[in-house]
Amino acid sequence: MSYDCEIIAVGSELLTPHRLDTNSLFLTAELNRLGFQVRRKHVIGDEPQALTQTIAGCWDRGFLTVVTGGLGPTEDDLTRECAAAALGVELRRDCEQERWLRERFQSRGYAVTQRNLKQADVLSGAELLPNPNGSAPGQWLVSENRKQERRLLVLLPGPPGELKPMVEAELMPRLGRLVPATALVTETLRIAGLAESEVDERSAPVYKRFPRVETTILASLPGEIELYFRASAPTEAEARAQAHEVAALVAAELGNAVYSHNGELLEQIAGHLLLGRGQTLATAESCTGGIIASRMTHCAGASQYYLGGLVTYANSAKRELAGVGEETLERYGAVSGECARELAEGVRQRFHADWGISVTGIAGPSGGSEEKPVGTVYFGLSGSAGVQTWMRQFHGNRERIQRLAAAHALNALRLRLLEETSR
Ligand code: AMP
Ligand code: MG
Repeated sequence: MSYDCEIIAVGSELLTPHRLDTNSLFLTAELNRLGFQVRRKHVIGDEPQALTQTIAGCWDRGFLTVVTGGLGPTEDDLTRECAAAALGVELRRDCEQERWLRERFQSRGYAVTQRNLKQADVLSGAELLPNPNGSAPGQWLVSENRKQERRLLVLLPGPPGELKPMVEAELMPRLGRLVPATALVTETLRIAGLAESEVDERSAPVYKRFPRVETTILASLPGEIELYFRASAPTEAEARAQAHEVAALVAAELGNAVYSHNGELLEQIAGHLLLGRGQTLATAESCTGGIIASRMTHCAGASQYYLGGLVTYANSAKRELAGVGEETLERYGAVSGECARELAEGVRQRFHADWGISVTGIAGPSGGSEEKPVGTVYFGLSGSAGVQTWMRQFHGNRERIQRLAAAHALNALRLRLLEETSR
């Protein structure tokens, strides 16, 4: 069981490149904990007509509407007026709130103006939510829409420092009393080495059988896909069981392409596999410029299995640091399987590692040719049993090609370690 909710963020500044609506992210996380699902979000400038229409639309559609912003004292703060117009209710001045505002201003040595006093205007039938961190109280109104459906409207201040404490102290306890306890649980699968369309094609026949679990596919990092399974139920255990059932079936369908079930990163998984085997890794990177080394060292404790790496960008570095032969570079070029082979083997020996990975390619935008277009990347993976090399063609801008190549190399290492472990 879940309850539909829409969030409206109000303020013309939120429609500029300078300010981001972050309140809705905070609100979504809080609301999800009580089983509310955010179905739509709106960002509306300080325009009465647009705001009134948006509130009216939400009031018609879903159980809960949360509006943030526009409760201040200035002329452009119109949320109260627009909410009253949208619901067709009166605004009345709350005497106690007016007294509180007057005292607040007097104690600070300011004169109260009519503008300030509009912060004491309350939607008829609404309850005020105290604001210890500012002058605008929030409002809570339970009523019925024109179809006689029960509806809830909440108005909250825009400044995050006022909104957050109010949500925690006032909104959450009230919502918790209004709706039966519901838990919303998300399970995650992370996938490497498959395109988003392929992930969807293979997993849709499975997850479509479970309409109660909401499945979302997200292309997260370049070369990696995330699948989210969200379920809600009266208890966390029930919701977890529902989400887990679908996640496990989809994982079985996608096989080895799934690298983690609980949000662990590709480099963490490769690290666990190395650690489990008591083995070590060294890297020689050309076109990825150290991205693999950076990702490997992202994990605490990586020194137990990651010995280090070389960024062998120029040919001289490939020769002098990784021992690539002069002749290899002349005959085949730096972007070649032969060079990748010598880099992987060279770095493995130089670091006395169990595994050596190499990447050498053309990240662009220049440097491509007909034979080796931009995005051509050679990989080497060297182990005690020999060196494997292969080529992949990536597409995108320079940064994307670099990120795709790094993810591909890490995934290749993971798959190889899995294969070795299952032997
Ligand atoms: P207001 O309540 O409309 O007077 O908003 C006051 C200030 O709060 C704005 O200038 C913003 O800096 C901040 N603010 C308003 N809405 C949001 C939002 N949705 N996310 C983050 N900050 C906000
Ligand atoms: Mg504003």
